[in-house]
Amino acid sequence: MSERIQPVKGTHDILPEEQGVWGRVRAAASSILPLYGYREIATPMFERAELFERSVGVATDIVEKEMYTFADSKGRRIALRPEGTAGVVRACVHHGRLRAHPLDKLYYLGPMFRRERPQKGRFRQFHQLGVEAIGEPSATLDVEVIALLARLLTACGVDRVELQINSVGCSECRPAYRDALVSALSARRAELCGDCRRRLTTNPLRLLDCKVPTCGEITASAPELVDHLCDGCRDHLATVEQGLTDLGVAYRLNPRLVRGLDYYTRTAFEAIAEGLGAQAAVAAGGRYDGLVEELGGTPTPAIGFAIGLERLVTLMEDGGEDPPLPLFVAALGDAAHRHALKLVEAVRGAGVAVEMDHSDRSLKAQLKRADRLKARRAVILGEEELAAGEATVRDLLAHSQARYPLADLAARLIEEERP
Ligand code: ATP
Ligand code: MG
Repeated sequence: MSERIQPVKGTHDILPEEQGVWGRVRAAASSILPLYGYREIATPMFERAELFERSVGVATDIVEKEMYTFADSKGRRIALRPEGTAGVVRACVHHGRLRAHPLDKLYYLGPMFRRERPQKGRFRQFHQLGVEAIGEPSATLDVEVIALLARLLTACGVDRVELQINSVGCSECRPAYRDALVSALSARRAELCGDCRRRLTTNPLRLLDCKVPTCGEITASAPELVDHLCDGCRDHLATVEQGLTDLGVAYRLNPRLVRGLDYYTRTAFEAIAEGLGAQAAVAAGGRYDGLVEELGGTPTPAIGFAIGLERLVTLMEDGGEDPPLPLFVAALGDAAHRHALKLVEAVRGAGVAVEMDHSDRSLKAQLKRADRLKARRAVILGEEELAAGEATVRDLLAHSQARYPLADLAARLIEEERP
């Protein structure tokens, strides 16, 4: 035997037994998102690396250390997408959608790639369901988007989740806050971790996000963004809070919740779930009023979020077992197998699921398989039956059986399986 080939570290298979719960996520998405006016978009899984450098930003973990990049044959730098927003915004700008769709509401579901240290809830290929609403600055849209996230989580049966929100300000008020933060933290520079010492010059807001305990202690007493918001940003946040309260969507204001980049504006939010351990964030989102312009479009405000689906499905109840199979066909001998094949194709053609046995095993072995497939009825085509021009149809639940003429066997089975 040859040596087995191992899967790539940080990747995982989604086996048939797990598809039920993934199917419930897709069903929730396709039933709820249209109620809010979202339409599906699919963008490529690889893009020019520059797209992510400009949108996610060079001073982020994703671009600094997590992106899978390679050069194509012409030497252009390509990256596997680490997230979905950049591709969606690129597509909107490329296709000139923003003119025709003053508020373009889009969603996507697909794999993302990040070279991270694999652990529980953290993969190198994982999936996100994301929404983007592009074209509207109003805080009531933020409320609608956050309520949509809450509804999706509820529809998936995930309720032990805390929604955290914050405002990261705008180009008017954030620079002053950044200065205040840097001057408050510079005095303790030596105590910060290496990454944070660097962030102090490249991207100081991200210090608030550092997972190193000593950095957390140091930033705990740092000035807070909510105290530095301009009037416009303060009003915006107040409207978001009021709207969530009006809708009965529970949330907590977390003044340390940040997004590191300049085009992120105002509302930032995360859904933190109980029961996920260290990787507790099941979804994250926020406003990115500066991104469309950054990617070459006309300045257009926007907001979105992404749900991490591996984390979501670990929170969902296992959807239970596979549904029972209406019919199973057991056949004994070549002539019976030829007959069985025609029968199952006819039955499937009428929209009824049926499985047949392709082996030459004993009737007992074939019926054992019918049992494992949870078949409700078995059609038995043996030599004796064929000679009589009939089939035995056995009800495997009621343990009763009858003989059907072969001539109208398919038609009768189909008729009986009709709801
Ligand atoms: P984290 O702080 O856990 O690294 P993040 O801030 O990098 O998350 P986002 O880029 O905001 O995450 O992505 C949104 C969601 O996607 C996260 O809340 C999480 O549920 C999921 N996610 C992110 N990275 C991974 C990963 N490597 N494996 C599985 N899910 C992930
Ligand atoms: Mg991350």
